Amino acid sequence: DLTINKIAAGEVVERPSSVVKELVENCVDAGSTKIIIEIVDGGKKLIRITDNGCGIPSSEVDKSFLRHATSKINKIDDLYDLYSLGFRGEALASISAISKLEMITKTKDEPIGTKVVVEGGKVISKEPIGATNGTTILIKDMFYNTPVRQKFLKSTHAETINISDLINKLAIGNPNIQFKYINNNKPMLNTPGDNKLTSVIRSIYGKDVCENLIKVEQKCKYFNVKGYIGNNNVYRANKNLQHVYINKRFVKSKVILDALSEAYKAIIPINKHAVCFLSIEIDPSSIDVNIHPTKLEIKFENEKELYIELRDFLKRALLNTNLI
Ligand code: ADP
Ligand code: MG
Repeated sequence: DLTINKIAAGEVVERPSSVVKELVENCVDAGSTKIIIEIVDGGKKLIRITDNGCGIPSSEVDKSFLRHATSKINKIDDLYDLYSLGFRGEALASISAISKLEMITKTKDEPIGTKVVVEGGKVISKEPIGATNGTTILIKDMFYNTPVRQKFLKSTHAETINISDLINKLAIGNPNIQFKYINNNKPMLNTPGDNKLTSVIRSIYGKDVCENLIKVEQKCKYFNVKGYIGNNNVYRANKNLQHVYINKRFVKSKVILDALSEAYKAIIPINKHAVCFLSIEIDPSSIDVNIHPTKLEIKFENEKELYIELRDFLKRALLNTNLI
Protein backbone atom coordinates (compact mmCIF):
# COMPACT_ATOMS: atom_id res chain seq x y z
CA ASP A 1 0.00 0.00 0.00
CA LEU A 2 2.87 2.35 0.80
CA THR A 3 4.33 1.59 -2.62
CA ILE A 4 1.03 2.38 -4.30
CA ASN A 5 1.03 5.71 -2.48
CA LYS A 6 4.57 6.40 -3.60
CA ILE A 7 3.72 5.73 -7.24
CA ALA A 8 0.41 7.54 -7.16
CA ALA A 9 2.15 10.48 -5.52
CA GLY A 10 3.78 11.21 -8.86
CA GLU A 11 0.39 12.27 -10.17
CA VAL A 12 -0.16 14.95 -7.56
CA VAL A 13 3.32 15.77 -6.39
CA GLU A 14 5.66 16.71 -9.18
CA ARG A 15 7.70 19.36 -7.51
CA PRO A 16 7.80 21.60 -4.45
CA SER A 17 5.34 24.05 -5.98
CA SER A 18 2.73 21.29 -6.39
CA VAL A 19 3.12 20.50 -2.68
CA VAL A 20 2.64 24.16 -1.80
CA LYS A 21 -0.41 24.35 -4.06
CA GLU A 22 -2.14 21.36 -2.48
CA LEU A 23 -1.31 22.43 1.08
CA VAL A 24 -2.38 26.04 0.60
CA GLU A 25 -5.63 24.93 -1.01
CA ASN A 26 -6.27 22.85 2.09
CA CYS A 27 -5.72 25.98 4.21
CA VAL A 28 -8.21 27.86 2.04
CA ASP A 29 -10.70 25.00 2.32
CA ALA A 30 -10.24 25.11 6.11
CA GLY A 31 -11.57 28.67 6.19
CA SER A 32 -8.26 30.31 7.09
CA THR A 33 -7.89 34.08 7.07
CA LYS A 34 -4.12 33.97 7.38
CA ILE A 35 -1.68 31.60 5.67
CA ILE A 36 2.09 31.66 6.20
CA ILE A 37 4.30 29.86 3.67
CA GLU A 38 7.97 29.36 4.45
CA ILE A 39 10.42 27.62 2.15
CA VAL A 40 14.11 26.75 2.26
CA ASP A 41 16.17 25.82 -0.79
CA GLY A 42 13.32 26.20 -3.27
CA GLY A 43 11.14 24.00 -1.07
CA LYS A 44 13.39 21.01 -1.71
CA LYS A 45 14.74 21.07 1.81
CA LEU A 46 11.80 22.48 3.70
CA ILE A 47 8.26 23.74 3.26
CA ARG A 48 6.31 24.97 6.26
CA ILE A 49 2.72 26.11 5.95
CA THR A 50 0.79 27.56 8.87
CA ASP A 51 -2.86 28.51 8.87
CA ASN A 52 -5.48 29.70 11.33
CA GLY A 53 -8.24 27.53 9.89
CA CYS A 54 -10.53 24.93 11.42
CA GLY A 55 -7.81 22.39 12.28
CA ILE A 56 -8.25 18.61 12.36
CA PRO A 57 -9.80 16.84 15.37
CA SER A 58 -7.30 14.54 17.07
CA SER A 59 -9.40 11.48 16.24
CA GLU A 60 -9.25 12.28 12.49
CA VAL A 61 -5.60 13.13 12.15
CA ASP A 62 -4.47 9.63 11.05
CA LYS A 63 -7.31 9.40 8.58
CA SER A 64 -6.22 12.56 6.80
CA PHE A 65 -3.12 10.72 5.54
CA LEU A 66 -5.12 7.87 4.03
CA ARG A 67 -5.92 7.97 0.35
CA HIS A 68 -9.52 8.96 -0.35
CA ALA A 69 -10.41 8.92 3.34
CA THR A 70 -11.09 12.61 3.14
CA SER A 71 -13.95 14.39 4.78
CA LYS A 72 -14.39 16.44 1.64
CA ILE A 73 -14.98 13.59 -0.77
CA ASN A 74 -18.73 13.95 -0.35
CA LYS A 75 -18.53 17.46 -1.59
CA ILE A 76 -17.31 16.29 -4.96
CA ASP A 77 -20.30 17.95 -6.56
CA ASP A 78 -19.02 21.25 -5.28
CA LEU A 79 -18.96 22.44 -8.85
CA TYR A 80 -16.93 25.52 -8.15
CA ASP A 81 -14.06 23.35 -7.18
CA LEU A 82 -12.61 23.06 -10.62
CA TYR A 83 -9.31 21.44 -10.91
CA SER A 84 -8.98 19.34 -7.83
CA LEU A 85 -12.10 17.39 -8.79
CA GLY A 86 -10.27 14.27 -9.89
CA PHE A 87 -7.81 14.43 -7.05
CA ARG A 88 -9.90 14.49 -3.97
CA GLY A 89 -8.26 13.01 -0.93
CA GLU A 90 -4.92 12.39 -2.60
CA ALA A 91 -2.74 15.24 -1.48
CA LEU A 92 -1.74 14.47 2.10
CA ALA A 93 -1.39 10.75 1.37
CA SER A 94 0.80 11.49 -1.63
CA ILE A 95 2.92 14.19 -0.02
CA SER A 96 3.54 12.15 3.11
CA ALA A 97 4.57 9.16 0.96
CA ILE A 98 7.54 10.99 -0.54
CA SER A 99 8.72 13.20 2.32
CA LYS A 100 9.19 13.55 6.05
CA LEU A 101 6.15 15.34 7.38
CA GLU A 102 5.20 16.88 10.69
CA MET A 103 1.81 18.29 11.44
CA ILE A 104 0.56 20.21 14.44
CA THR A 105 -3.14 20.89 14.40
CA LYS A 106 -5.84 22.07 16.78
CA THR A 107 -9.54 22.70 16.45
CA LYS A 108 -11.28 25.39 18.47
CA ASP A 109 -13.40 22.72 20.20
CA GLU A 110 -10.47 20.79 21.62
CA PRO A 111 -8.41 22.05 24.57
CA ILE A 112 -5.14 20.73 23.21
CA GLY A 113 -3.59 20.13 19.82
CA THR A 114 -2.11 17.05 18.14
CA LYS A 115 1.36 16.55 16.76
CA VAL A 116 1.94 13.79 14.26
CA VAL A 117 5.12 12.72 12.48
CA VAL A 118 4.86 10.78 9.22
CA GLU A 119 7.77 9.38 7.24
CA GLY A 120 7.43 7.75 3.85
CA GLY A 121 3.70 7.44 4.46
CA LYS A 122 4.04 5.77 7.87
CA VAL A 123 2.82 7.45 11.05
CA ILE A 124 5.88 7.42 13.34
CA SER A 125 4.40 9.22 16.32
CA LYS A 126 1.27 11.00 17.45
CA GLU A 127 1.00 12.95 20.68
CA PRO A 128 -0.94 15.78 22.30
CA ILE A 129 0.74 19.18 22.19
CA GLY A 130 -0.09 22.73 23.20
CA ALA A 131 -1.00 24.69 20.08
CA THR A 132 -3.03 27.59 18.77
CA ASN A 133 -6.09 26.99 16.61
CA GLY A 134 -5.20 25.98 13.08
CA THR A 135 -2.72 23.74 11.33
CA THR A 136 1.01 23.79 10.67
CA ILE A 137 2.47 21.32 8.21
CA LEU A 138 6.20 20.89 7.81
CA ILE A 139 7.56 18.99 4.80
CA LYS A 140 11.22 18.04 4.87
CA ASP A 141 13.42 16.42 2.27
CA MET A 142 11.06 15.96 -0.66
CA PHE A 143 11.67 12.70 -2.56
CA TYR A 144 14.23 11.54 0.00
CA ASN A 145 12.99 7.99 -0.62
CA THR A 146 12.70 8.30 -4.41
CA PRO A 147 16.16 9.46 -5.56
CA VAL A 148 15.22 9.21 -9.23
CA ARG A 149 12.47 11.78 -8.78
CA GLN A 150 14.77 13.94 -6.72
CA LYS A 151 17.11 14.15 -9.69
CA PHE A 152 14.37 15.69 -11.80
CA LEU A 153 13.97 18.65 -9.49
CA LYS A 154 15.22 21.89 -10.94
CA SER A 155 17.67 24.33 -9.43
CA THR A 156 16.78 26.06 -6.19
CA HIS A 157 16.32 29.25 -8.18
CA ALA A 158 13.89 27.68 -10.66
CA GLU A 159 11.86 25.93 -7.97
CA THR A 160 11.69 29.16 -5.97
CA ILE A 161 10.33 31.06 -8.98
CA ASN A 162 7.66 28.38 -9.47
CA ILE A 163 6.59 28.69 -5.85
CA SER A 164 6.63 32.49 -5.88
CA ASP A 165 4.48 32.56 -9.04
CA LEU A 166 2.06 30.12 -7.51
CA ILE A 167 1.74 32.08 -4.26
CA ASN A 168 1.12 35.27 -6.21
CA LYS A 169 -1.69 33.53 -8.07
CA LEU A 170 -3.22 32.12 -4.90
CA ALA A 171 -3.03 35.51 -3.19
CA ILE A 172 -4.69 37.26 -6.15
CA GLY A 173 -7.43 34.64 -6.15
CA ASN A 174 -8.05 35.11 -2.42
CA PRO A 175 -7.79 38.82 -1.51
CA ASN A 176 -9.71 38.13 1.71
CA ILE A 177 -6.85 35.97 3.01
CA GLN A 178 -3.59 37.36 4.36
CA PHE A 179 -0.70 35.60 2.61
CA LYS A 180 2.75 35.77 4.14
CA TYR A 181 5.58 34.22 2.17
CA ILE A 182 9.10 33.75 3.48
CA ASN A 183 11.94 32.42 1.35
CA ASN A 184 15.18 31.39 3.13
CA ASN A 185 14.17 33.56 6.10
CA LYS A 186 13.58 36.52 3.83
CA PRO A 187 10.07 38.05 3.75
CA MET A 188 8.89 38.05 0.13
CA LEU A 189 5.21 38.89 0.29
CA ASN A 190 2.69 39.99 2.88
CA THR A 191 -0.78 40.80 1.61
CA PRO A 192 -3.17 42.61 3.94
CA GLY A 193 -6.12 40.25 3.46
CA ASP A 194 -8.46 43.26 3.33
CA ASN A 195 -10.54 41.73 0.54
CA LYS A 196 -9.37 44.32 -2.00
CA LEU A 197 -7.82 42.96 -5.18
CA THR A 198 -5.88 46.20 -5.68
CA SER A 199 -4.19 45.71 -2.29
CA VAL A 200 -2.90 42.32 -3.42
CA ILE A 201 -1.79 43.70 -6.77
CA ARG A 202 0.09 46.50 -4.99
CA SER A 203 1.76 44.02 -2.62
CA ILE A 204 2.95 41.87 -5.50
CA TYR A 205 3.63 44.22 -8.40
CA GLY A 206 3.98 47.60 -6.69
CA LYS A 207 2.49 51.01 -7.15
CA ASP A 208 3.28 51.37 -10.85
CA VAL A 209 1.11 48.51 -11.99
CA CYS A 210 -1.57 49.22 -9.41
CA GLU A 211 -2.02 52.84 -10.47
CA ASN A 212 -2.31 52.05 -14.16
CA LEU A 213 -5.29 49.78 -14.18
CA ILE A 214 -8.75 50.12 -15.65
CA LYS A 215 -11.56 48.61 -13.63
CA VAL A 216 -13.91 46.39 -15.59
CA GLU A 217 -17.17 44.77 -14.55
CA GLN A 218 -19.98 43.38 -16.67
CA LYS A 219 -22.76 40.86 -16.54
CA CYS A 220 -22.86 39.06 -19.87
CA LYS A 221 -25.14 36.41 -21.29
CA TYR A 222 -22.93 33.41 -20.63
CA PHE A 223 -20.75 34.78 -17.84
CA ASN A 224 -19.96 37.66 -15.48
CA VAL A 225 -16.58 39.29 -15.63
CA LYS A 226 -14.84 41.65 -13.26
CA GLY A 227 -11.34 42.79 -12.50
CA TYR A 228 -8.70 45.07 -13.93
CA ILE A 229 -6.84 45.50 -17.20
CA GLY A 230 -3.78 47.64 -17.83
CA ASN A 231 -4.00 51.11 -19.35
CA ASN A 232 -1.58 52.33 -21.99
CA ASN A 233 1.22 52.83 -19.46
CA VAL A 234 1.47 49.22 -18.44
CA TYR A 235 -0.26 47.14 -21.04
CA ARG A 236 3.01 46.22 -22.70
CA ALA A 237 3.68 43.59 -20.13
CA ASN A 238 4.69 40.00 -20.27
CA LYS A 239 2.71 36.82 -19.92
CA ASN A 240 3.43 36.63 -16.19
CA LEU A 241 1.20 39.62 -15.60
CA GLN A 242 -1.80 37.96 -17.18
CA HIS A 243 -4.15 36.49 -14.63
CA VAL A 244 -7.37 34.73 -15.46
CA TYR A 245 -9.60 33.14 -12.85
CA ILE A 246 -12.64 31.06 -13.62
CA ASN A 247 -14.93 30.57 -10.66
CA LYS A 248 -12.09 31.67 -8.38
CA ARG A 249 -9.52 29.24 -9.75
CA PHE A 250 -6.47 30.31 -11.73
CA VAL A 251 -6.60 28.86 -15.24
CA LYS A 252 -4.88 29.06 -18.57
CA SER A 253 -7.35 30.17 -21.19
CA LYS A 254 -6.31 31.05 -24.71
CA VAL A 255 -9.83 32.20 -25.65
CA ILE A 256 -9.95 34.78 -22.91
CA LEU A 257 -6.46 36.10 -23.54
CA ASP A 258 -7.20 36.25 -27.27
CA ALA A 259 -10.34 38.27 -26.60
CA LEU A 260 -8.28 40.64 -24.46
CA SER A 261 -5.55 41.07 -27.02
CA GLU A 262 -8.08 41.64 -29.83
CA ALA A 263 -9.74 44.34 -27.76
CA TYR A 264 -6.41 46.14 -27.33
CA LYS A 265 -5.50 45.67 -30.99
CA ALA A 266 -8.70 47.40 -32.04
CA ILE A 267 -7.50 50.47 -30.20
CA ILE A 268 -3.71 50.38 -30.16
CA PRO A 269 -1.90 48.86 -33.11
CA ILE A 270 0.53 46.89 -30.99
CA ASN A 271 0.32 43.24 -30.25
CA LYS A 272 1.62 42.56 -26.75
CA HIS A 273 0.51 40.70 -23.67
CA ALA A 274 -1.68 43.08 -21.74
CA VAL A 275 -1.72 43.15 -17.97
CA CYS A 276 -4.93 41.65 -16.70
CA PHE A 277 -6.55 40.45 -13.54
CA LEU A 278 -9.80 39.01 -14.80
CA SER A 279 -12.20 37.01 -12.76
CA ILE A 280 -14.94 35.21 -14.62
CA GLU A 281 -17.96 33.57 -13.11
CA ILE A 282 -19.64 31.02 -15.29
CA ASP A 283 -22.11 28.19 -14.95
CA PRO A 284 -19.82 25.26 -14.02
CA SER A 285 -21.88 22.89 -16.16
CA SER A 286 -20.93 24.85 -19.28
CA ILE A 287 -17.20 24.30 -18.86
CA ASP A 288 -14.96 21.32 -19.17
CA VAL A 289 -11.85 21.22 -17.06
CA ASN A 290 -8.89 19.08 -17.81
CA ILE A 291 -8.77 17.51 -14.41
CA HIS A 292 -5.04 17.04 -14.16
CA PRO A 293 -4.15 19.41 -11.34
CA THR A 294 -1.03 20.76 -12.97
CA LYS A 295 -2.66 21.66 -16.26
CA LEU A 296 -5.47 24.01 -15.35
CA GLU A 297 -6.78 24.10 -18.87
CA ILE A 298 -10.39 24.75 -19.56
CA LYS A 299 -12.87 24.45 -22.43
CA PHE A 300 -16.07 26.46 -22.81
CA GLU A 301 -19.30 25.18 -24.24
CA ASN A 302 -20.14 28.52 -25.86
CA GLU A 303 -16.61 29.44 -26.72
CA LYS A 304 -17.33 31.57 -29.78
CA GLU A 305 -20.05 33.60 -28.05
CA LEU A 306 -17.93 34.05 -24.96
CA TYR A 307 -15.04 35.26 -27.05
CA ILE A 308 -17.12 37.84 -28.93
CA GLU A 309 -18.96 39.11 -25.86
CA LEU A 310 -15.78 39.47 -23.85
CA ARG A 311 -13.81 41.09 -26.66
CA ASP A 312 -16.50 43.64 -27.37
CA PHE A 313 -17.01 44.46 -23.72
CA LEU A 314 -13.29 44.94 -23.11
CA LYS A 315 -13.03 47.07 -26.25
CA ARG A 316 -15.82 49.33 -24.94
CA ALA A 317 -14.16 49.50 -21.55
CA LEU A 318 -10.89 50.58 -23.15
CA LEU A 319 -12.62 53.15 -25.38
CA ASN A 320 -14.59 54.59 -22.50
CA THR A 321 -11.57 55.40 -20.42
CA ASN A 322 -9.57 58.52 -21.09
CA LEU A 323 -6.47 56.78 -19.81
CA ILE A 324 -5.81 55.19 -23.15
P1 ADP B 1 -8.77 16.78 0.25
O1 ADP B 1 -8.31 18.20 0.41
O2 ADP B 1 -9.02 16.46 -1.17
O3 ADP B 1 -9.91 16.42 1.15
P2 ADP B 1 -6.18 16.14 1.27
O4 ADP B 1 -5.34 14.93 1.18
O5 ADP B 1 -5.64 17.40 0.66
O6 ADP B 1 -7.58 15.79 0.65
O7 ADP B 1 -6.51 16.42 2.80
C1 ADP B 1 -7.08 15.37 3.56
C2 ADP B 1 -7.93 15.91 4.69
O8 ADP B 1 -7.12 16.47 5.72
C3 ADP B 1 -8.87 17.05 4.31
O9 ADP B 1 -10.07 16.53 3.81
C4 ADP B 1 -9.08 17.77 5.62
O10 ADP B 1 -10.09 17.15 6.37
C5 ADP B 1 -7.76 17.57 6.32
N1 ADP B 1 -6.88 18.75 6.18
C6 ADP B 1 -5.77 18.84 5.41
N2 ADP B 1 -5.17 20.04 5.53
C7 ADP B 1 -5.92 20.74 6.42
C8 ADP B 1 -5.81 22.07 6.98
N3 ADP B 1 -4.82 22.91 6.64
N4 ADP B 1 -6.77 22.43 7.88
C9 ADP B 1 -7.76 21.59 8.23
N5 ADP B 1 -7.91 20.35 7.73
C10 ADP B 1 -7.01 19.92 6.85
MG1 MG C 1 -6.61 18.94 -0.50
